[in-house]
Amino acid sequence: MITSGAFRGKRYAVLGLARSGKASVEALLASGAEVTAWDAREEPREPFAGRVTLADPLGIDLTGFDGVVVSPGVPLNTHPIAAKAREAGVPLIGDIELFALARGDLPPHRVVGITGTNGKSTTTALVHHILQTAGVPTTMGGNIGLPILGEEPLPAGGVYVLELSSYQLDLTHSLACEVAVLLNITPDHLDRYERFEDYANSKLRLFWMQWIENVAIAPSKYFHSDDKLAGVVSDGNSGRVMALEDVFSECPADTAFPSEGDQPQWPALQGPHNLQNACAAVGVGVVLSIPGFQIANGLRTFPGLPHRMERVGEYNSVLFVNDSKATNPASTAPALAAYPPNPNKRLHWIVGGLPKGDDLDECAPFFANVVVAYVIGEAGARFAELLAPHMRVERSEMLCEALRRAIAAAGPGEVVLLSPACASFDQFRDYEARGDAFRRLVHGLAGGGSVDPQWCAA
Ligand code: ADP
Repeated sequence: MITSGAFRGKRYAVLGLARSGKASVEALLASGAEVTAWDAREEPREPFAGRVTLADPLGIDLTGFDGVVVSPGVPLNTHPIAAKAREAGVPLIGDIELFALARGDLPPHRVVGITGTNGKSTTTALVHHILQTAGVPTTMGGNIGLPILGEEPLPAGGVYVLELSSYQLDLTHSLACEVAVLLNITPDHLDRYERFEDYANSKLRLFWMQWIENVAIAPSKYFHSDDKLAGVVSDGNSGRVMALEDVFSECPADTAFPSEGDQPQWPALQGPHNLQNACAAVGVGVVLSIPGFQIANGLRTFPGLPHRMERVGEYNSVLFVNDSKATNPASTAPALAAYPPNPNKRLHWIVGGLPKGDDLDECAPFFANVVVAYVIGEAGARFAELLAPHMRVERSEMLCEALRRAIAAAGPGEVVLLSPACASFDQFRDYEARGDAFRRLVHGLAGGGSVDPQWCAA
């Protein structure tokens, strides 16, 4: 756990006791702070009875508190805690800000902060993997699901790799990352931001918090005058902002800017989106002076993350890929793009679930890559209608049935891809449960293992 003398004798209120809130309370208590904590549900409050003051920060006088720590899940645009903290003159912060405040007590280290609309988890895990295989002490945390305060402090020379969502950045005020990365910004989360610009600004705060000697990396298109983010990305930064491509010329490096031709060597980084993620991760490696052969080694051995183009297995020379995290057509498009038309490597696409829209327009440029679509879930009927003019379509309803049909149809060298372009809630708890079911079904149906009847009852 990360602790700090900076919190000793201070008073903090913590609202929301899920993963990051829990880690914040533990770190603050272990650092000698006085903590008031609350969660709307009773169960997460129970472990803290007798160790903290259990009270809702909304119902108490906040005067004199040093901070109100809120979970990134609390919508600051509508939740009354924001106004209440402001009136009391108490900063509204998150666990990442506590980490920033604790840094002074940690052995000399560097922080890599990664943000963007898509690809954050993959890039964070990849940077972490590259550093680890290069022998650099490293740990990852933040939005990737690992509260950073719960991690062990690194020895001198270590690198903390943080995945930072816009919600987390809204609650962070003093995190100067030695290397900050913006992967991309496309409209998202507009339920919590009034305008696209507000969402973009919230991500760009990562750059604005840096010091002069720090490096910020963003895709080169944001430096072109015809992009609407051009001025925004290059203005107002306190660090040295570089277009990703320029990192390779400006920093002494024995590694080149990666290209599509390198991808066959990276099994877990297929598709144009993963080329983008890999370029960003290599850029970070270059800034951190990791030798080229070690970066190449990291890219080659990266195991990938579950549910994102995850190679589940190969049976009878058919490859099975789980991309259950692709919950909308925009994130399925790059998965389809990863398999260009090839008579020896045809794509069997399992698609459907709870649709988020009425079309598959973003996937349309890659329809030619697919030999058969197996449509499932609530979206099945609509997707069948959309896809039938472009490819063979099989109506399957359930995932198990779709997979059975795909196994029967796929020949050696072909690929069976689950990339649903839909939410999972019509048939599964979440995208992870859907991906786990797919993985088990593949091993059972294609691999000759046992199949849990709950998945194939229909
Ligand atoms: P995040 O953590 O930002 O949600 P992930 O790495 O978990 O991103 O990837 C989520 C999904 O987004 C993946 O299934 C993939 O389809 C898509 N994706 C990944 N990287 C990118 C990228 N650089 N650009 C666009 N889409 C991407």
